[in-house]
Amino acid sequence: MSTCAIVGINWGDEGKGRMVDLLTGDFDYVIRYQGGGNAGHTVVNEYGKFALHLVPSGIFHRSVVNVLGNGVALDPENLWREIETLRAAGVTVTPENLKISERASLLLPWHRDLDALEESRLGDRKYGSTRQGIAPFYSDKYQKKTILAGELFYPERLREHAEELLRWKNLTLTGVYGAEPCTLPRLLAWLEEYGAKLRPFLCDTSALLYEADRAQRRILFEAQLGALRDLDYGIYPYTTSSNAIAAYAPVGSGMPWARVDRVVGVVKAYSTCVGEGPFVCELRGADAERLREAGAEYGAKTGRPRRVGPLDLVATRYGVRAQGATALALTKLDVLSYLDKIPVCAQYELDGKRTDAFPFPAALERAKPVIDYMDGWRCDLSGVRSWDALPEAARAYVERIERAVGCPIAYVSVGAEREACIMR
Ligand code: GDP
Ligand code: MG
Repeated sequence: MSTCAIVGINWGDEGKGRMVDLLTGDFDYVIRYQGGGNAGHTVVNEYGKFALHLVPSGIFHRSVVNVLGNGVALDPENLWREIETLRAAGVTVTPENLKISERASLLLPWHRDLDALEESRLGDRKYGSTRQGIAPFYSDKYQKKTILAGELFYPERLREHAEELLRWKNLTLTGVYGAEPCTLPRLLAWLEEYGAKLRPFLCDTSALLYEADRAQRRILFEAQLGALRDLDYGIYPYTTSSNAIAAYAPVGSGMPWARVDRVVGVVKAYSTCVGEGPFVCELRGADAERLREAGAEYGAKTGRPRRVGPLDLVATRYGVRAQGATALALTKLDVLSYLDKIPVCAQYELDGKRTDAFPFPAALERAKPVIDYMDGWRCDLSGVRSWDALPEAARAYVERIERAVGCPIAYVSVGAEREACIMR
């Protein structure tokens, strides 16, 4: 067997989807192992432009089997909408090329409601959730108050279980938030509708992957968010509610016995962050506006303008370590072509001292960026396809990052299209 994970090194939106789409040709299985419909992985290829939320980015390759593992937040509404969008664009999505773990928990209608209710309650102190129900979903999963997808095959038991959960959840909806309760007919109708849609895709994906493993199949794990949004290693509480890092991939995929042989960490040539939380290297004003425009930095899921800044070597080094990255893909280098001088956040200053170490979340608010500048190249890179054809200043930028974070950069992308990528 050979396994590889494609993961984000920073705050997300590094270009994981496009890297999975590019590298999928070398794999037989592509697996999403955590997160839910809150992802936005943009893929641009012969079928058009897509923002994938739950469906693995391997769906465009005919020979690839795509798997939603037990670790994902299985959001039937988002998933079904996405399947229909893909089919309308001519992409084949069938129970043959999309398999859903019977051990994945269902994201239920009240999870989205609760997410929005809690963000509203928090007001100014909100987490910046995409309001897709992810945090309430994972809390309930750990409380063992969700429904496993496989229960859709056991209607009697499902009805009883759903009724019990409804009674319990309505205590929170009405008692804590003063919201309308969910009714049993609504819940049962929802389960009926999505049960019929999902059942053909459900299976024991662990057994499937065990056989795949024995048959020496090549397996790719696709992460949903970056290292700094990982529940345990990120900028808690401005993280997501699951583990996005590569180490979790075997568990969330249904292959707890497996090792991750290669980890390709995706780093953007500058920083972006969507939502709330400390973002040490954040740019503001006209410089930020210019970079946001140049990189078209608006959320793939929400359309929110992303916060932007120079590449942050401190956070990137930390992300590389958390992911155990064995190689990096540096994306969107073309976006920086307009700059005469390219700012880089080389260190942080914390309480008057300079540091290379990424601080504990509570100290992050006090950290200040130490910026230095590198020469720009001031020419269009979008047509460049080889390392030697890159301007010297661009190569120097790439090499500086490699040295600073201690990991080789194996891919440099210079455009959103599948082939706009330099392999070193
Ligand atoms: P993901 O969530 O990590 O998959 O990343 P997103 O899809 O949310 O954000 C990356 C954005 O950058 C998308 O709009 C991509 O089409 C775009 N993109 C990816 N690589 C490149 C690149 O090399 N150059 C440019 N200009 N755009 C890119
Ligand atoms: Mg994204």
